[in-house]
Amino acid sequence: MKKAVDGLILRELPTGESDKLLTVLTAEGRFLMTAKGARSMRSKVMSLCTIFTYGNFEYYEKYDRRWLSGGSVLESFVGPNAELEGIALASYLSQVAHEITEENVDCSEVLRMTLNSLYCIKKQSKPLWQIKAVYELFAAVSSGYAPDLAGCDSCGAEESESMWLDVMNGALVCGDCLRKRAENLALPEFDEYSVRNVLLPLDASSLACLRFVTAAPIERAFAFTLKSEESRSYFCRAAETDILHHLERSFDALDFYHQVEP
Ligand SMILES: [Zn+2]
Repeated sequence: MKKAVDGLILRELPTGESDKLLTVLTAEGRFLMTAKGARSMRSKVMSLCTIFTYGNFEYYEKYDRRWLSGGSVLESFVGPNAELEGIALASYLSQVAHEITEENVDCSEVLRMTLNSLYCIKKQSKPLWQIKAVYELFAAVSSGYAPDLAGCDSCGAEESESMWLDVMNGALVCGDCLRKRAENLALPEFDEYSVRNVLLPLDASSLACLRFVTAAPIERAFAFTLKSEESRSYFCRAAETDILHHLERSFDALDFYHQVEP
C-alpha cells in the first residue's frame, strides 16, 4: 500500500550503485527511506532527495523498510547559491535535530523549529549567531535539559551584579554566592574551553535573552535583539555549551561552522 508523508531530509547517504539512503524528519518521527536510482542523472526524484529539502514523500513498505516511489518538493532550503556559512549552520542544525529525535516519537515541534530556522537561514532574515543560539536553546528545552534561569540557585536573587550559568547543575549562581562557595574551595579558574569546569559569565542582557528564548513559543523565539557584542558572546556561549554538555558529544558540522562563521 502506498503512503505519503511531509518531511525534511536531515541526512543523505549513497548506497548501492545509484541509490540514496535518506533520513527524513516528519511530525510523526524520524525514519529512513531508500530512494532507488536517486543518484542517477536521469532520476526524477533527484531534487526531492537532497539534504535540507522539505517535501511530500510517497513511499511503500517492503522487507520492513520504506522505499521512495515519488513525491514533490515543498521547499528547498539550501540552493546552489547558498552561502557557505549558511550551509554550515544548516548542517549543524540537522545533526542536532537528528540527535534529539527518534523513530515513532512525536517530532512535530522539532520539525517546526527546524523548518523555521532553515527558513531564517535561507531568507537571511536573522543573523546566523541568533538562529544558532535559539535552536540550541530550543534543543535543550525540548530534550529536558534547559537550565533553571529563575534566579540564583543559592539565594534566589533574580538579578545580581554578576551572574553565572552553572552548566553542570543547570542553574544560575550569583557572584556573591559564588564567592561564598569559594571561601572553602578554590575558586574555579576561568576555563576558556570549558574542559575542567563549566561556569559561564552572563550579563543582564544575555540573561534576559536566555530567559526569553527558553520560555517563548516557537513562533516567537527569534523575536529579540541583542546589540552589545559582549552580551551576544555570553548568550551564544551559554547556549552552545549547555547543549553540547548535555548531549555529551561534539558535532563535526559545528567545528566547520566555527571555521567559516561570520
Ligand atoms: Zn546568590
